[in-house]
Amino acid sequence: MGRVTTTLAIANQKGGVAKTTTVASLGAALAELGQRVLLVDLDPQACLTFSLGIDPEDLELSVHHVLTKGLAPGEAVIATEDGVDLLPATIELARAEADLLTRTGREHVLKMALEDLAAGEAGGHDWVLLDCPPSLGVLTVAALTAADGVLIPLQCETLSHRGVGQLLDTVHDVRRFTNRGLEVWGVLPTLYDGRTNHARAVLDNISETYELEVIEPPIPKSIRFAEAPAAGRSILSTARSNRGANAYRDVAANLLERAGRST
Ligand code: ADP
Ligand code: MG
Repeated sequence: MGRVTTTLAIANQKGGVAKTTTVASLGAALAELGQRVLLVDLDPQACLTFSLGIDPEDLELSVHHVLTKGLAPGEAVIATEDGVDLLPATIELARAEADLLTRTGREHVLKMALEDLAAGEAGGHDWVLLDCPPSLGVLTVAALTAADGVLIPLQCETLSHRGVGQLLDTVHDVRRFTNRGLEVWGVLPTLYDGRTNHARAVLDNISETYELEVIEPPIPKSIRFAEAPAAGRSILSTARSNRGANAYRDVAANLLERAGRST
């Protein structure tokens, strides 16, 4: 029997809510727990790729070739120093979005590619984390179609919930048309300032309004996050015992439990 893979889309069409940071940090935390992890960069800005120490400009092959040129995904996957595998992005991915718009079955391209990968030698991951771009376009829909669950990083500010309804509408559409089994795992509070009651109030309000689970613990705001990408490693190695790094470790343990994998 092959391994069971849990695929999570980390999505929120708002930029700057720590999607990419969450993918890199959770990936590293799951790897620390002995899980085999694949991260997929679906943002043409390639911030995830860059933050894992890979210069997108040096890449011959990337997720764009997989999604639009029929490249076998195993050919583009790279092992990183953080102990996770990466299907990297380059700026060419911006063109993939346009190319895919006219393709039949575009919602399914990523799902198919991940199934191919899982069946091949480069496969066998326990977790696949999809770093979505800041839009609800073709790439995000393809990610939601490929995913078992969606995790929504959320900065707890007064207006931050306006996008959540739209994202959930997209999730509902995806459920109806392309991926019946998609589950919302919950919102993950990021850039969280626990010293204010405000953050907690906003969070309670959002989880009530949309009936969303809140994933614990919240990820505290920490200056150390700004330093990690430049080092080409996640915060788990650049600031080992930092509060932020430990929060991601705790979230990883909770996700493991939720997926029924805790040991
Ligand atoms: P997104 O992918 O949603 O656009 P990023 O992960 O790129 O968001 O994060 C946006 C910015 O916020 C980055 O500069 C990142 O370093 C910073 N950041 C992320 N998480 C935290 C945190 N917990 N504390 C402080 N800064 C953070
Ligand atoms: Mg990002």
